Amino acid sequence: MTAPATAHGLLSGLDEIADIGRDARRGGYSRHLWQPADLELRDWFTGRAVRLGLDVEIDRNGNTWAWWGPRGDDAIVVGSHLDSVPGGGAYDGPLGVVSALEAIYRLQASGFRPARPCAVLVFAEEEGSRFGIACLGSRLMTGALDAGRARALVDADGISLEAAASAAGIDPAGLGEDRAALARIGLFLELHVEQGRGLIDLGSPVAVASSILAHGRWRITFTGEGNHAGATRMTDRRDPMLAAARSMLAVRDAAVASTGSRATIGRIEAVPGGTNVISSQVTVWLDARAAEDAAAQDLVTEITARVSAAAAAEGCTAVVAEESWSGAVAFDEALRDRLVHSLHGVPTLPTGAGHDAGVLSSRLPTAMIFVRNPTGVSHSPEEFATLDDCLAGVAALEQVLRELL
Ligand SMILES: [Zn+2]
Repeated sequence: MTAPATAHGLLSGLDEIADIGRDARRGGYSRHLWQPADLELRDWFTGRAVRLGLDVEIDRNGNTWAWWGPRGDDAIVVGSHLDSVPGGGAYDGPLGVVSALEAIYRLQASGFRPARPCAVLVFAEEEGSRFGIACLGSRLMTGALDAGRARALVDADGISLEAAASAAGIDPAGLGEDRAALARIGLFLELHVEQGRGLIDLGSPVAVASSILAHGRWRITFTGEGNHAGATRMTDRRDPMLAAARSMLAVRDAAVASTGSRATIGRIEAVPGGTNVISSQVTVWLDARAAEDAAAQDLVTEITARVSAAAAAEGCTAVVAEESWSGAVAFDEALRDRLVHSLHGVPTLPTGAGHDAGVLSSRLPTAMIFVRNPTGVSHSPEEFATLDDCLAGVAALEQVLRELL
């Protein structure tokens, strides 16, 4: 779907950013906070917004706003994110941003003028790929993440968030709860590619979100005894890699035993990480989710017990530390019903994925529109949505904005 930059109406924004942040090793895209691809995407967004006559500003936490008309409190704010997971797809995040700009373009082209303030908002580091905490920009804005803790976060290269913010022109002292920004948002709308197969079964191109699973991230550190791979008898070992291996199976078994729950270990790091070396320490990251807060916490309690037993069986120790936690979200019912009504009764759908709209829902009304994903695959280069379904999403957003503004 190649189209010239001026050809609005074909989601040409996705074409314009198609080469930014491609990951040759993993496939797909790696677009991480304040790294070159993210900075290039921010420049692209600013240019695209300015061409629509929008007024761009960056807030204290590195989130980018583009105002249609005068800035003001109680605005209708619509947006998503531009960053990705490592090796992510083209739609998770950018589809929401591109669709928001496209909907505004269509409203402008039809002669519509908003009666209340309106902005497109691009949140920083939604995926948490650089500093480990998902929805970083919205968590900082709402105060859900302590600014001091955020400043001390370090990326894989040992660069602190404080230093990275400074390098990107954001004053680290200004990070944290931003009540002025929150007051600006009367309600927040996020359009997003569906991360699952719900809409395939429902036979609809779009749906309105009903809820988000409770979810969190935990760092599990196994400590054993580093030693020589050739000189150490098998019976003399305390190998934390084996403790981690036992634990991964235990994590799967615990999640299977808890109906509707999900638990994943998708990342592992060994120290020192040599082929002929028994590791001294192995760290894995656990992502666990469930429909209710208590069920998710119970699952992690059960996993912690199983992981400790797995470590002990290998003569190792395990420490489980929470890195982030998001309680289950039930989206604002009145707003959800209003969207369903204005979209002529589209279905509602829960999601297992976290979103900035979920974080903001603790402070103000939020809603989400999902666009059908024909494979259900997300956080992967295979992520996809058809052009027709994407355009149905834009039309839905345009319709909702027309009514709310
Ligand atoms: Zn996303």
